[in-house]
Amino acid sequence: MRIDLSKLTEAERLLWEHGVTSPKHIDLDAIASALGVKVVYRPLCGCEARLVGDHERAIITINNRDVTQGRQLFSLAHEIAHWRNDRHLRLVTCVQDDMSPKTMEAKGIESAANDFASQLVLPNYLTAPIVDGLPFNLDTAAKLKYAFRCSMTAAAIRMARLSRGAVAVFCHTRTSRAWITKGLQLPMDLNVVRVLHHETDAFAMVFGSGLQISRPKVEPANRWLGMHEAFRREVSVQSMKLPGDRVLTALELHPEKKHATKRR
Ligand SMILES: [Zn+2]
Repeated sequence: MRIDLSKLTEAERLLWEHGVTSPKHIDLDAIASALGVKVVYRPLCGCEARLVGDHERAIITINNRDVTQGRQLFSLAHEIAHWRNDRHLRLVTCVQDDMSPKTMEAKGIESAANDFASQLVLPNYLTAPIVDGLPFNLDTAAKLKYAFRCSMTAAAIRMARLSRGAVAVFCHTRTSRAWITKGLQLPMDLNVVRVLHHETDAFAMVFGSGLQISRPKVEPANRWLGMHEAFRREVSVQSMKLPGDRVLTALELHPEKKHATKRR
């Protein structure tokens, strides 16, 4: 595998230095151990993860009660980020909100830890070759989820950040939009609706239709987007039910159609 080392992020370089050339090589417990960190999994009350350390060693505790393996993996990556970058903090306690996609859009210690963690769990140099050429939808995100044993949310966000299309992934509750990650090519003036349109599969899911994941489909853009000319644009969308009456959606805005010139 040939890699341009100068283009790797700090987290990717850490993986590379530990010989990671395939998703199955990623072993964050082993990397933590090499960094002087002992990792403990046990039920925690009031937080998802905790780091206690001095300048040389640390103990990371990960909550394993009612938490998926994908979330535990991200929690460990997030605490490794604190150990690498915020070592002056002897005690760090992180709640679920600190590691949520909502925080990833903000600035500060927690968002920096999330960016680092995201690259430890789903490094660009391994994820980009997998999604390259595949459609932007949750079926593609599922390929990342299974290859990297991460959460569907983390996989979908990585897919959006890698995409060269006008894309976004976002999460809705019954009454509002919980968070959104936009791809770099999405027009700045474009906003995803805050409340789900009643004709979408996502609406049916969040109100308990029993459907777990929809098929990718093309829909009128004005069901999803608040933008000038949305009424004559189209989007590809796919939605998936998440725990807690939430629904995850991957969306790609189609290019504007060229109108055929009328012949005389
Ligand atoms: Zn944190």
